[in-house]
Amino acid sequence: MMMGREVKGEEVVNPIHLSNKLGQQWIVDQYCKYMSEKLRFIENNQKKIRAELYSGCKDAIHDGDGGENTGDLGKMGRPVILPASVTGSDRWYKSKYMDAMAICLRQGRPHLFNTMTCNPNWPEIKEELKPGQTHNDRPEVVCRVFHAKLKELMKDIKDGLFGEYAAHVYSIEFQKSGLPHAHILIWMADKEAWRKTETVDKVISAEIPDESSPIYKRVVESMLHGPCGNPEDGQRSCIQNGICRFNFPKDYQYKTEFEEDGFPRYQRRSPEDGGNTVAKFRNGKRIVYTNADVVPYSPWLLMKYDCHINTEYCHSVKSIKYVFKYINKGSDVATTRLESIGHTSSADDPSPRNEVEDFKNKMFVSSMEGAWRLQEKPIADRSPAVQALPIHLPNQQTVFFDPESTQEEMKEQLKKDDRTMLTDYFRLCRDDVGNARDLYYRDIPEHFTWESKERRWNQRKHPFKKDVPGMIGRVHYAGMKDRERFALRVLLNNTKGAMSFEHLKTLDDGSVCNTLMAACIAKNLVSDDQYISDCMSEQAHHCTNINQLRQLFVDLLFECEVVDPVKLYIEFKDAMKVDYVHQYGVATATRK
Ligand SMILES: [Zn+2]
Repeated sequence: MMMGREVKGEEVVNPIHLSNKLGQQWIVDQYCKYMSEKLRFIENNQKKIRAELYSGCKDAIHDGDGGENTGDLGKMGRPVILPASVTGSDRWYKSKYMDAMAICLRQGRPHLFNTMTCNPNWPEIKEELKPGQTHNDRPEVVCRVFHAKLKELMKDIKDGLFGEYAAHVYSIEFQKSGLPHAHILIWMADKEAWRKTETVDKVISAEIPDESSPIYKRVVESMLHGPCGNPEDGQRSCIQNGICRFNFPKDYQYKTEFEEDGFPRYQRRSPEDGGNTVAKFRNGKRIVYTNADVVPYSPWLLMKYDCHINTEYCHSVKSIKYVFKYINKGSDVATTRLESIGHTSSADDPSPRNEVEDFKNKMFVSSMEGAWRLQEKPIADRSPAVQALPIHLPNQQTVFFDPESTQEEMKEQLKKDDRTMLTDYFRLCRDDVGNARDLYYRDIPEHFTWESKERRWNQRKHPFKKDVPGMIGRVHYAGMKDRERFALRVLLNNTKGAMSFEHLKTLDDGSVCNTLMAACIAKNLVSDDQYISDCMSEQAHHCTNINQLRQLFVDLLFECEVVDPVKLYIEFKDAMKVDYVHQYGVATATRK
């Protein structure tokens, strides 16, 4: 490859732009260099990273990290930790997921789910291609254009395209073909309006428009699903267990109606009721599409953005869980390990976990993603801002000392760490500052700002609007084996105006429970089995290794008084299934 710049007549030519496949390789190489430098820095600065983890100012993601169980880490040798600041790491995904859940806790269910896929035929991309080049040869152009369109789309939505906007979360993924696409969740301010079919009809269509309509061509080109079947015959590979996993073709529906579970059945008129049809040729076969085959879309967005842009209504709480998991699922990865029979798994594996090494091993990057990341474009975004709120048990806010620090420095550090966001929230409630007594801990950032130098909450001078929060708080996640911290979190999420740990343990009749967990159960906030089942499902969502889930199940049986172990087993038996058992050993394959 020629390096440097070459002048051809007037035009300055960048050889990388002309190198096609070699250019793609170059981008991937540069990205890998950048990442390995970053990871090397992390490996060399573990002391500081572990300190943050120990002091509980980071979310725990594995049992035994953060919080009270840190002793295990010491026993296990020195695990190498990959912090949440590394985009794409487990901790990073976890923190994004928790942020999205915090918005959900504040705003209720999201209203719209948008998927926007980059169109390689956009004129802005085509104009930049040299003769003979495809979009894959210019990943940096594709990324710039897609990012600009996405920004414009978010601006349209924030400016009130669908009504008054309240919040959003999005994440970017890269398809196997390399093209970027965005999954966007949107919360609207007017919750009442979004329970009406008129609002749904105004925004979403699931029908083939009349031929005279300006969007006719676009719907026909990019919003029809099918035929479902064998990809080798040029059909979509969406069949799972004999049916389309997107449930196409859908049933006809004369007009939009809400089902009992709150999900709307969009208007899809049958040809007899006047619905349009369109015939397309695929591999020489004539296929007739009807309204049953239309992927729901927003006509306005389709007209403006000219790409596959799917707009759907978000319904039950169940779908929120699905969507959050889906948009935060991380890269597809399979880890396989062969172990001889008789050797029990990771639990007593003596070698310490090396998260950096694990991360490197499962890194998979396309030139498109490489270009996206090198241009420092965000892989996830949300609004409003989410402030993480640490929790700790009484006098257990852990203070980190550098072993080399002097006694003076230690004293200084102690004084500084004495007041925490949590204890200062108690102070606000005790002193009845502002409306603190009407607030949950998680609501505090909406009404107060944290002054990290003074280490205190100060009342906001300009409060936010009621339906459109400018800042959302989320209480740190607590590890499941950590019953007291877990209970503290539940109590804080259910008690307004908490004045002290004592206050949280006090029941309505004035009696004080011995532990936070006892208070939780007495207040009916967790039935014992419900709490255990919640632990399991939370872990099932996040665990990277099926053995972790099984280990947790066993631990719960031993350590907690499970009332109905069989029921718990049946609930999670699929999640704990061995994916593959080999004659010579056990291999576990997990998809994240
Ligand atoms: Zn299908």
